[in-house]
Amino acid sequence: MAGTGASTEIHELVRRKLSEAAIRYTSGRRTVVTAIQMASGPRTAAELASGPAGSVPVSSLYRTLSLFDDTGILKKHHGSHGIARYELADWLTGHHHHVVCVACGAIEDIGVSDSAESELNAIASSLGSQAGFRVLDHVLEVEGVCPDCDR
Ligand SMILES: [Zn+2]
Ligand SMILES: [Zn+2]
Repeated sequence: MAGTGASTEIHELVRRKLSEAAIRYTSGRRTVVTAIQMASGPRTAAELASGPAGSVPVSSLYRTLSLFDDTGILKKHHGSHGIARYELADWLTGHHHHVVCVACGAIEDIGVSDSAESELNAIASSLGSQAGFRVLDHVLEVEGVCPDCDR
């Protein structure tokens, strides 16, 4: 989620993660992380290219997204419209949920209060245990119509 972790802290965590794989954290890669971090939800490569990551050549942007996906820096979402969207992984920014527009496919982050989150955890654990699962995590997407499509 945008702004959860301090920017310098996230850059340091990414730098360390890449260095474990002997990959350099170049300024282009840094720009891509900053662009993703500034977004208020998962973004497509095209959205990143036409926005804050515009200074990074498109071919290099795609390679960087794929590298970050492989190294666990990004979480990739396959939306209902079949277009991949990227955001920083939860270990960098914290657990959160999404609202998804069923009309245009836009996804935005939503924060959930601690009390609502513990209710969600309880529901997820109980549902999982019905199937004999030891529950580790959950994903929640709220579907609706975004303000732009609702006009
Ligand atoms: Zn998100
Ligand atoms: Zn949750």
